[in-house]
Amino acid sequence: MNDCIFCKINAGIIPSPKVYEDDEMFIINDIDPKAIKHYLAIPKKHFKYLADMTEEDSKMVGRMLKKIADLAPSLGLEGGYRLCVNQGDDPGQTVPHLHIHVLGGQKMDFPKL
Ligand code: 5GP
Ligand code: ZN
Repeated sequence: MNDCIFCKINAGIIPSPKVYEDDEMFIINDIDPKAIKHYLAIPKKHFKYLADMTEEDSKMVGRMLKKIADLAPSLGLEGGYRLCVNQGDDPGQTVPHLHIHVLGGQKMDFPKL
């Protein structure tokens, strides 16, 4: 097991209830929410950057986007949502495991993370 927080959450080593899970992704609540609804959609495969993706990884991330869209009404995101993927230092990526922020439940200024 590597030292990655999200890999440890996936393995159950760090507790964080999964609001959704399948064989390739899971969704948790962000521990420090920046909106009324703030989820993290996380692939089970560990990689940091979109640039690291194989062709199959990019298809898997496409399926993640579809799953987020399908789940949105049941996640309290009937009013819409914002997706954000921080990549690298300038936007302030803190966890080196790709994740999609899913924000909503309120009107949002831009940028507001
Ligand atoms: P980044 O800044 O890398 O785009 O986003 C990382 C996110 O992970 C942050 O919004 C942070 O609040 C969240 N986070 C960090 N550690 C944990 C944790 O242990 N549990 C949960 N649920 N979220 C975490
Ligand atoms: Zn990881």
